[in-house]
Amino acid sequence: MLIVGEIWTFDGDGPRAGAVYLEGGRVADVGEAEALRARYPGARRLSFERVTPGLHDAHVHPLYWGEALAALDLRDERDPRRVAAAVRAEAARRPRGSWIRGGGYAFDAYPDRALLDEAAPDHPVFLESRDLHSAWANAAALAAAGVDARTPDPPGGRVLRRADGEPTGFMLEHATWLVRRVLPPPTVDDLRRGLDDLARRGYVAAHAMGDLPPEATEWVRRMAADGALPLRLAWTLPKRVWRSWRPEKIGEQLHVFGVKFFADGALTSRTAWMKIPYPEGGHGMPLDDPRAHDEEVAAVLDAGFVAAWHAIGTRAVHELLNLADRLEARGLPARARLRIEHAQHVDDADLPRLAGRTLSLQPRHAHDDRAALGALGGEPRRTAYRWAEFARLPGVRLLFGSDAPVAVPDAAAGLQAATRHPLGRAGLTGEAALAAYVHTSAVALGWHEEPAFWGRIAPGARAALTLWEHGEPVARVWNGVVEPVQ
Ligand SMILES: [Zn+2]
Repeated sequence: MLIVGEIWTFDGDGPRAGAVYLEGGRVADVGEAEALRARYPGARRLSFERVTPGLHDAHVHPLYWGEALAALDLRDERDPRRVAAAVRAEAARRPRGSWIRGGGYAFDAYPDRALLDEAAPDHPVFLESRDLHSAWANAAALAAAGVDARTPDPPGGRVLRRADGEPTGFMLEHATWLVRRVLPPPTVDDLRRGLDDLARRGYVAAHAMGDLPPEATEWVRRMAADGALPLRLAWTLPKRVWRSWRPEKIGEQLHVFGVKFFADGALTSRTAWMKIPYPEGGHGMPLDDPRAHDEEVAAVLDAGFVAAWHAIGTRAVHELLNLADRLEARGLPARARLRIEHAQHVDDADLPRLAGRTLSLQPRHAHDDRAALGALGGEPRRTAYRWAEFARLPGVRLLFGSDAPVAVPDAAAGLQAATRHPLGRAGLTGEAALAAYVHTSAVALGWHEEPAFWGRIAPGARAALTLWEHGEPVARVWNGVVEPVQ
């Protein structure tokens, strides 16, 4: 198969070419269109505006994304009353007693369950915030979970309460598990739905970030062994279970490569761990406190895993860098194998410390956080989403992803946010932004060194490609087949 177009190779020897010739799932030849047409006269010919190495979503939760695709879509909702109206309509469609699930909202203040109790008195309701760090439940859901005025706050979580001590139905961080644990459990079908959606959007790889439950790792291993994964999956383990696994690759289907930690919460839930306090007080919340994880992370690195650390707030990033420094001082490969997920708020003093590190970023979050940042005032806005400054640091690796279901895994929207910064800061060049999706994401996993290498279009490369028109993915090449984006 001969594909003619602007070939962005991300290969040092020739960053641009006019055509690529594929054979048996590999890139066989790259060069000028005319020369390749002459060399392969019998080849099937296709033409696209642009061809790149295949898209990665470098931070995604495919199981939760699959669940979200089947739940009530509350994206862009900022008014609890509108959410309650959507719940009321959903309740009219569903048998009494069945769970109503939904997610995607971002409220400016914590709502009370009275709205949901009125909208759906006969259905348990559980709605997750867009950032997944808080949830809103009604009385029926709290009753099903046995949560009442006597329920204590769990470690790392808070049940918000009315003046009389009764739960308001709004829960932060680990407290969401009080209700989450009685929900119908996610299934392998949810996982498949999430992965299929990513493949249909033109992705060839996804870095799955610590999806619970732990049995999901068994599901993906089984799917990989059957060759049933629709894209290449890089998998991180939840931290409670990682010791029963080791880094492994199952063909080109699955790469179990990391362990996921959470240094803090998220901005819109006001749980991101910040150096300066929120207007209403408090600095957010450390979760896996980096000051107390030296031995655990040392063991993770010793076992050959990458430690992928969620860190959003300025304080979380700061403490995580301190942890990395302590581990490096012990001779551990923290610079190479401690990966920072999000890095949304970075103080001036910590910025140069990110040199040489791997930063996994989600450009669309800057767009979605505009309102929340506006409410927080100048300093949090100044330290937010400093991608162009990151890109200037020597040796830094930027990877881009969506964090779906936190944002829709729309790579075109991500590229647009990365190049035209939603907060009005300097953006990245188009080439640098694309590199974070198609090149560096493969390099960060070491896939650029495999025999059928990834992340670059050159003879011998795996033909896992994304095909573009007008800045949007329109198809991918996967297993020797051109699959249109749907
Ligand atoms: Zn995430």
